[in-house]
Amino acid sequence: MTEFPPYPSGLRLAGRRVVVAGGGHVAQRRVPGLIAVGADVVVVSPEVTPAVEGLAGGGEITWLPRGFEDADLDEAWYVIAATDDVAVNQRISAAAEARRIFCVRSDDAPKATAWTPAVGRHAGVTVAVLSNREPRRSASVRDAVVAGLRDGAIAAPHDSERAPGVVLVGGGPGDPELVTVAARRALSEADVVVADRLAPRELLDELSPDVELIDVAKLPRGRSAAQEEINRVIVERARAGKRVVRFKGGDSFVFGRGYEEAIACAEAGVPCSVVPGLTSAISVPAVAGIPVTHRGVAHEFTVVSGHLPPGHPESLVEWPAVARLRGTVVLLMAVQNLPAIATALLDGGRSPETPVAVVSEGTMPGERTLLSTLAAVDAAVESEQVRPPAIVVIGDVVAVANPEKYAAASSWQS
Ligand code: SAH
Repeated sequence: MTEFPPYPSGLRLAGRRVVVAGGGHVAQRRVPGLIAVGADVVVVSPEVTPAVEGLAGGGEITWLPRGFEDADLDEAWYVIAATDDVAVNQRISAAAEARRIFCVRSDDAPKATAWTPAVGRHAGVTVAVLSNREPRRSASVRDAVVAGLRDGAIAAPHDSERAPGVVLVGGGPGDPELVTVAARRALSEADVVVADRLAPRELLDELSPDVELIDVAKLPRGRSAAQEEINRVIVERARAGKRVVRFKGGDSFVFGRGYEEAIACAEAGVPCSVVPGLTSAISVPAVAGIPVTHRGVAHEFTVVSGHLPPGHPESLVEWPAVARLRGTVVLLMAVQNLPAIATALLDGGRSPETPVAVVSEGTMPGERTLLSTLAAVDAAVESEQVRPPAIVVIGDVVAVANPEKYAAASSWQS
């Protein structure tokens, strides 16, 4: 005879009588789950394990210390036949059948009218898995699903969270391993993804085919026009009821123009939330082995944009003040203007021997670190043909991380 699969149903047993016949290890395993859903549990068995006896003693269940009687099922909604006597289980099963009560059997699943799934719970979701009588298989599927819910690999948004809007997501420095759990979840829930060139691109391959992907790197026209177009697109899609992820490299609010997008959303009355990312300013040096601070060496680190050269009328950076800093200076977007910046720092009094590291394509397959000094970095970047994206780290922490290279000029060592 064909064995049909079971029909799953969520029984709501609170306050309803459930009879567990038998007081051994099966009962001991099932009873806590029944208590947890509020069932009125009655264990019928001449003997029970100490654990079951404890539950009865604590008033959490009723224990009838005797053999099963058919009348035990009179008020019951559900029954678990778990005695160690097959004949008794058969009798319970028959009594249940006669009363149209579903009955689980610990000894003979094919004859049972109900099966117990492998159950797990996470954040208001109940996971119940039934396979065709392969309990270990059910348990591993259950474990995988619950683990996925826990670590965010499986997205389980609350229905109320499905509202349209924009999420500004920082994607970290480039290695797809370095995005946050929240970033992955936002991507998996997105209808539209607007992605930057520096966002971790591998993750975009994982998007489902119905997600609209807008690649900002391919937008024509100049920088600010492109930004206006991005603001327009995210607002327009969100207003059309879509969940929009604005996916950027690093952190959205570190030279990422993220707050311009937040303002555009606010002005348009579109809900906007933020998922912070690991900024390249700290993580790229870290992965290249350079700490931005170190006890006794650098008690400050300053992150500066190098996209405008010193002296540029629109520059907001006080380069003479930066030059006077003792601590670490981290430059972003600085490859092109590095000669002018190095000159400004030297002119402002920073030592020509100051160690400098230039880390290009940090955390990505093409990662490369060039070690130099403030006086020599200009020529080194030129001869090594360093290309953006690159992070420039200036300060003694570079020497701490590379003592052999800077042994001669170790001002930080005593
Ligand atoms: N919001 C980003 C920075 C955007 S500005 C963040 O928080 O990281 C772009 C600059 O970031 C690049 O010019 C470069 O200086 C730096 N950058 C970003 N990713 C990088 C990477 N993987 N390796 C080296 N530099 C990187």
